This record gives sequence, C-alpha cells and structure tokens, in this order.
Amino acid sequence: MSIGTSKYTFFETVGHNFDKASKFTTFDAGILEQIKSCNSVYRMKFPVRTGEKLDKIEVIEAYRVQHSHHKAPCKGGIRFSPDVNQDEVMALAALMTYKCAIVNVPFGGGKGGIKVDTRKYTELELERITRRYAAELVKKNFIGPGIDVPAPDYGSGEREMGWIADTYLAMKSGDVDGLGCVTGKPIAQGGVRGRREATGLGVFYGIRELCRQKSVMDKMGLSTGVEGKTVVVQGLGNVGYHSAKFFREGGAKVIAIAEYEGAITNPDGLNEEEVFAHRKATGSILNFPGATNLARSSDALELACDILVPAALENVITEENASRIQAKIIAEAANGPVTVEADDILNKKNIVIVPDIYLNAGGVTVSYFEWLKNLSHVRYGRMEKRFTENMNTQIVKQIEELSGKTMSETEKSTILHGPDEVDLIYSGLEETMISSLHDLLNTMEEHPEIDSMRTAAFVLAIKKVGVSYKELGIFP
Ligand code: GLU
Repeated sequence: MSIGTSKYTFFETVGHNFDKASKFTTFDAGILEQIKSCNSVYRMKFPVRTGEKLDKIEVIEAYRVQHSHHKAPCKGGIRFSPDVNQDEVMALAALMTYKCAIVNVPFGGGKGGIKVDTRKYTELELERITRRYAAELVKKNFIGPGIDVPAPDYGSGEREMGWIADTYLAMKSGDVDGLGCVTGKPIAQGGVRGRREATGLGVFYGIRELCRQKSVMDKMGLSTGVEGKTVVVQGLGNVGYHSAKFFREGGAKVIAIAEYEGAITNPDGLNEEEVFAHRKATGSILNFPGATNLARSSDALELACDILVPAALENVITEENASRIQAKIIAEAANGPVTVEADDILNKKNIVIVPDIYLNAGGVTVSYFEWLKNLSHVRYGRMEKRFTENMNTQIVKQIEELSGKTMSETEKSTILHGPDEVDLIYSGLEETMISSLHDLLNTMEEHPEIDSMRTAAFVLAIKKVGVSYKELGIFP
C-alpha cells in the first residue's frame, strides 16, 4: 500500500533522521558512523520447484541484513512482498536497531526480505520457498538463537515461523536452545501467548499513555484519555486489526478503516472483527453495512480525526498529501509511513507524530519474551501461578475473618487469580511501552531544542547504542 515517493530512499530517510538527532549527542564521528552503518548484507538467489507438478524452477531473490552487532543476537522480521529490495531491508534493519534500544530489548537490529507476491503461490510453494530461505540462512550462519533471530513482518506470520524453526532444528539437531532461532512461532512450537497481538497492543498502550499526559493533550486542544477519541486505521493486517481492536475496546471510536481496495467510514464507529469477516466473505472491505465507501484507500488518511494509525507499509504520508492531513496525532504502527518531506510539513502543522521506532516496538518486545521462554525452557507463570493463588486465598480468608464479611464469588475470582502466561506478557509489554514513552518525554524535556518526538527517539536510541559500542571497547 505504498502510495507515495520521496527524494530520499528508505535507508536514506532513516539516515537523515539519524543525522538530525546525532547533533544532540556527544559521540565522536567514528562511533556515529558505526552506529549508522549496516554491518552485513546478505543477498541471495535460490531455486525453488513450483507448479502443480513441481515441474517449474523459479529463482527467488531474498535478503537478510544485520544492521548492528553491538548486542547479540540480531533481531527483526522477514517481509514477504514483491516490492522487497536491498534498500528497504537495510532501512528496516536499521529501524530495528533503534527500536530495540528504545525499549531496552538487548538485541542488534536485523531484517529479512523475500521478494515474492504471496497471493500468487500455494501454501505448499510458500513452504518450499520459506524452508529454502531458512536453509540458506543456516548455511551462511545467518540464523541461530545467539546469532540472528527472525520473526514475522508484512506478509508472514506464525505458519512461516513454524517452517523456519522446523528447518533450523532439522539442520542443527541437538541444539537444545534451537527453538530460540526464530520468534512469532505457533504456541505448540515454542511460541508465546500474546505475540500475535503484541504490536497492535503496544501501539494502544503507547498512545493511551500519551493521551494521559495533560500537558501534551492541552497543546493539541484534546482532552486526556483515549476514551471517545476518533481513530482512523490504514491497513487491516495483523497490526492494523489489533490496533483497531484495542482502541475500540479502550473506548475510542474507529471511524474509518482502509485497505488496498478502498476505505470505509462510519462516524458511529466500526467493529474491526465484523469488517474483517465482511472482507473475508466478499473479498472487499467496501459495502460494509452501515458504512460509507471512500473511492481511494488513501482518502482515509485525510479524514478529520484525533488519531491516525498508518499500519501498513512505508511512504504513505508524503509531500503530496501531508498538507491535507487533519489528524492531531499520527501513530506510526507501520515502519516508515511518513517521508522526510512530509515529516517537515506535519511538524510545522504541530501534528504530534509518535514514531515507529518507539510505537511499534511491542512486537519485538514480546519476541524478546518468547526468546527468553525458549532459552529457559519453561512457560511463563508455571512456577508462580498456584503459589500466588494459594497466597491470595489465605489473604482473602484473613480479610473475611477479620471483617466478618464474605466476598462474592466474582470478587474472589478476580483477587485470587494467579498470573497465566498471557497476563505476564501483557504486563511486561505494558510496562515497557509506558516507561519508554516517559524516557522519550524526558529526552524532549532535557533538549528543548528538539522539535519532534522522532528526533527525541533517535537521540535516545543513539545514546544507548553508542554507550554499548564504547563499553565493548571497539574504539580506542
Ligand atoms: N517485524 C516486526 C517489527 O518490525 C517484529 C520484529 C521481531 O519481533 O523481531 O518490529
């Protein structure tokens, strides 16, 4: 759904934002250059048998980029898209470095890409492509729990991660930590509960916390809280769908949803689950009962709303449409949705852009939790759930005895509940998104000359990565 252009390539855009921020740090030029550079770029071409009788041979182009090795392993998703190219994968890998730093996830940045249109292949063909890609990574030592750990991205999900884990384990039998070679796996194959919705939930937690800041809301003439705010979501993939879900459940009103084929709007609010079911049944988001169709998908971006959530691909808000954006807050659920030119226009309009390298970090945060689960070989909550419930039972008993009153079963069950895996994952994610937002706001306070949250996010990231390089003693 990339609709615009810029005079900067995507990797140059990331570099431009980096340069803007690096001025607010005191690292010497060598360290800055090292942080900014992509350490390793692996471009591969491999043959795969396709066709009903597997009688065709197709040569597939794919990439894995490791942007930074200041911490190990490298981490980042694999994009399956016909538009994949080296510049894009390098940009996305760089964003991963900064993202991980901001949310204190101890990984270097990485990213993969396979240049395919997934709609043109059967499941079996996609499996062959994915497994062969994983095998190429194993052959070149570009994957492993301590080396580089892929995850889902646009066009890939649990199914693909399951194939990758299985291929890795087949080639590295006996590696007891082998399941940690990839995250975003199905639960039955070592995945963690909550990973699927993690990015969308992180977007919600981040924006909810921003909306709690009276001083920030006052500047935009908005009331505090997400309740009652109007939201436009562009993209109904995994990230867009879950962002819409959590905003709706949090009391906001999703007034428009956009996809390739067009957009729909309803001032009374849309239910993403019903829209998703309608799209599945009819093949299109359009003609959803009670909603109005918008001819062009991009029209949704220009609607008046409080929060605009671009949740698809890069370069959707450009020099061309930026002046017509009416949102007060842009929540970058996607990576790189705003071009350099658009960024300047939007900043001048005092639109608050909550940058991708903070806001969509929920995915990698929960990937980190999954990786820890794989290395510890134990499900979250297994050791403490019963203990907590037994302790709480004792506490409730004491309270009842002392007060002479009996709690209702509903009250009791809420208090007694010991944490399940998903409770701990949500709690870890919530804590991460809230504390990192405050790190960003504090950075802006420390440097009043910084004009945007994006620049503050880059400053924070550069400082954290720079310190690691210094500590590693790489530079004399
Ligand atoms: N692809 C996601 C991102 O862009 C997730 C990466 C991960 O979980 O490693 O952040």
